[in-house]
Amino acid sequence: MTEQSDSPHTSTSVLIVGGGPIGLALAADLGRRGVDTILIERRPNKLASARMLEVGARTMEFCRRLGIAEEVRNWGFPTHYNLDTVFVTNLEGHEIGRVRSASLSTRFSSQYSPERARPCPQTWFDPILQKCARSFESNELRYETELETFVQDDDAVLATVRCRKTGMRQKIRAAYLVGCDGSESTTRELLGVQLRGRKQVDLTVNVYLRIPEFLSLHHTKQALRYVFVGPEGTWSFLTMIDGKDLYRLQILGLDQSNVDKIDVGAMVKRCFGRSVFYILEDTISWTRKMTIADRFMDGRVFLAGDACHAHPPNGGLGMNTGLQDSFDLSWKLAAVLKGWGDQALLDSYECERRPASSRATEVSLLNYGRLMNQSSNPDIDAPTEAGDKARREVGGRLVRENEKAWQPPGVHLGYVYDPSPIVVPDGTPRPADDTHGYTPTTYPGARAPHFWLRTDVSTLDLFGGGFVLMKFDDTDTTELEEAAKLRRVPLEVHYVANEKVASLYERPLVLVRPDGHVAWRGDALPNNCLDLIDTVRGAGARIIACRGTTRSTTEVTRPTLVSTFGRTRHG
Ligand SMILES: Cc1cc2nc3c(=O)[nH]c(=O)nc-3n(C[C@H](O)[C@H](O)[C@H](O)COP(=O)(O)OP(=O)(O)OC[C@H]3O[C@@H](n4cnc5c(N)ncnc54)[C@H](O)[C@@H]3O)c2cc1C
Repeated sequence: MTEQSDSPHTSTSVLIVGGGPIGLALAADLGRRGVDTILIERRPNKLASARMLEVGARTMEFCRRLGIAEEVRNWGFPTHYNLDTVFVTNLEGHEIGRVRSASLSTRFSSQYSPERARPCPQTWFDPILQKCARSFESNELRYETELETFVQDDDAVLATVRCRKTGMRQKIRAAYLVGCDGSESTTRELLGVQLRGRKQVDLTVNVYLRIPEFLSLHHTKQALRYVFVGPEGTWSFLTMIDGKDLYRLQILGLDQSNVDKIDVGAMVKRCFGRSVFYILEDTISWTRKMTIADRFMDGRVFLAGDACHAHPPNGGLGMNTGLQDSFDLSWKLAAVLKGWGDQALLDSYECERRPASSRATEVSLLNYGRLMNQSSNPDIDAPTEAGDKARREVGGRLVRENEKAWQPPGVHLGYVYDPSPIVVPDGTPRPADDTHGYTPTTYPGARAPHFWLRTDVSTLDLFGGGFVLMKFDDTDTTELEEAAKLRRVPLEVHYVANEKVASLYERPLVLVRPDGHVAWRGDALPNNCLDLIDTVRGAGARIIACRGTTRSTTEVTRPTLVSTFGRTRHG
């Protein structure tokens, strides 16, 4: 094989492996921060079919930061479309329960976020991210190019990539490499990082169908998701993808013995209760997993997205959690590359993102159980009293359970980076973790809360560049500003004269990181502002031990941190 190709660049600050949503979002945010990247993607520049559909509120907040929220909002899903999840024996049979969700045309007011969750299938979402990533000249996107191998030393990573069209190999030297290369990650394998969890929860077949005049073919009222429950329990569900005529039928709970024997015609007939006309677009079988990587980083190489945590898609958390990785990592890489960030900033990536991802994978598995468990009843379709009782019981249980599954604010907004070497604890107890409900807090490590400052301007819109000091009293903050200047840490001070925001932010001074999480809060400036700045830029705290604490299914190792900073002057 030839060693050189005619590709223009052979070195870059960040080599991103994988052009799925996580790699594209990372490229976009690094581009926004002025960092040059090369993104390589094995497949051609076209996604055949959508896996991800549900874009969560936190992801929409990131989109807002990238300036693409409007595009994601208006990609074309009909605003009046009913977004319910409905449980049926078949579309001409019994409706046994319905989880209601407000349509996009409903006036939206959330006290928690400026954005709401919304459907935007990956076939629309990824191109929006891609366009954003490409809008920065410092980003180069190469399709049909794959990572083969890499070596790293103290100074750089040297990757060998191969163009699949020409077969040419090329070496790319990068300061950092980020493997966003999905659940079969080459990067993870090359690092020798092991996965924990459940490598096969079940096998599922996705069937993509065009069904013209869908609503006229049956009597069930419109929904986004139709869940089919037979005597054996939940066996499939049909999801509207494009708001027009494209649907995805998922046949669940398969194993090696039956995954290749799916009779699509028979399945569609079972869903409708009769034969209907449809156009088969695609059929894909895939493995439902719940895994988390032992490590999220090794030296100059990082893992993000499905490469380090794979979720059952139930509840729509996979991509949404992966995007949090991209936005946690991008400002840290940018800070180190620009010279004001130090090593603990990079180390904090794994400390922060591994527990947060583990939390989301556990919720995803729970959501799968909510759909499947205790849903079987031999009488479910029977035209008898026993049938009525079965439908009431199974339907009631599915509704109660699944009301918790779709887009609860707690799981999307309530993840907290504690402990972290770059977050300063203030001695207050950590709020109880609630994956369902959400209580805004400025507890150090939490996402700084949203509040509308004026029409269409959220507190969250102040964040996303450098650090932001939210100031609610007349404290003279010169000392902190000078400390930041001395260390070249970008810092803006925002005085907010609004009692409601002041009360929401709980302390007169709240230091918010570039990713919108609270780094420190206090009643007054600390005794030593330089210590604070050094801690939050990754130069002041040390990880002294990693002590394993076992969580139910994924055995997450949570690091024990000792911060060298933590004094707060009161009064
Ligand atoms: C049916 C289904 C529904 C889902 N619904 C949702 C949802 O509603 N909401 C949600 O948040 N998540 C959902 N998910 C999960 C979501 O699709 C994934 O979490 C998300 O796509 C992960 O993005 P990624 O960029 O990490 O990986 P991927 O999307 O898998 O992208 C990785 C990319 O890396 C490339 N690659 C691999 N190896 C190499 C190599 N050696 N060199 C170069 N490139 C390489 C691959 O070609 C691929 O394009 C769903 C998943 C499924 C299966």
